[in-house]
Amino acid sequence: TSYKISDIPKPRYARVNTLKMDVESALLEFKKQYEVRQDAMVPDLLIFPPRTDLHDHPLVKSGSVFLQGKASSMVAVALWPKPRWEVIDACAAPGNKTVHLAALMKGNGKIIACELNKERIKRLKDTVRLAGATNVKVKHEDFLNMSPEDPAYSKVQAILLDPSCSGSGTVVDRLDHLLPSYTAESDVNRLEKLAAFQKKALEHALSFPAVERIVYSTCSINQVENEDVIKSVLPLASSYDFELTTIFPQWPRRGHPVFDGSQHLLRTDLIEDKEGFFIALFVRKGMSPSPKN
Ligand code: SAM
Repeated sequence: TSYKISDIPKPRYARVNTLKMDVESALLEFKKQYEVRQDAMVPDLLIFPPRTDLHDHPLVKSGSVFLQGKASSMVAVALWPKPRWEVIDACAAPGNKTVHLAALMKGNGKIIACELNKERIKRLKDTVRLAGATNVKVKHEDFLNMSPEDPAYSKVQAILLDPSCSGSGTVVDRLDHLLPSYTAESDVNRLEKLAAFQKKALEHALSFPAVERIVYSTCSINQVENEDVIKSVLPLASSYDFELTTIFPQWPRRGHPVFDGSQHLLRTDLIEDKEGFFIALFVRKGMSPSPKN
């Protein structure tokens, strides 16, 4: 027997794009038609019953509301950039987290949204346009080629790094493929390649001179793409005065205990949360761990 993730009833989430609409008005509008409530952890997030289909809802079509899961919506909140900051979204397309950052910054400051893949640039631009995020500059570039010494980035204070990953927390449908022990021989190579890029990109992010906060996230459940990547950069991070910092302390599921400090890391569970995400936050010492606006 095999079980399908899609068989498990899963609440639907939608994020209010506060650049276009406030949460109260969105709640009032949706309550006319749906059972809806606000998420307790991510304030802009609304929760609907399983199988609610909002794809064609006018508020979604107009970019006032984005269909975005809870774990994905926790990433920009974990970075929590101040409104006037300069921020790099290092691997940005299709741009869901980019425009969430823009909303958290109330449309102020500047977001450099970097994307390597030419085909995905269009999606990114469409998302930015739909969201009305006028503080975003889309850049077709390899993040690894953006030089930390370039004066253009000398004021960048935060980096969101959501690199390409195996997607094992979202795309695989058969639960028996998701046991921690399961890794097909053919996948080992792919995972190693992905992890090598993830590590390089994170090291690169750590080297920007004015950066105070870095969030690293994946939609993978594999330790090699998550805790192992974080662990491998710890010496470099500490040489730049960065330390891992706890995000969403009230959230019960933390990183696998493979090094001291793994409790700072956040995981969502494929079964419990219906998607497997991983989030880590580095903060430079001497900086406030949760900046107020
Ligand atoms: N953050 C996005 C969102 O929430 O909508 C999803 C990002 S997706 C997981 C990773 C993206 O990184 C892909 O679009 C991929 O093309 C891009 N990418 C991969 N390597 C890159 C690089 N070296 N520089 C910039 N972007 C890269």
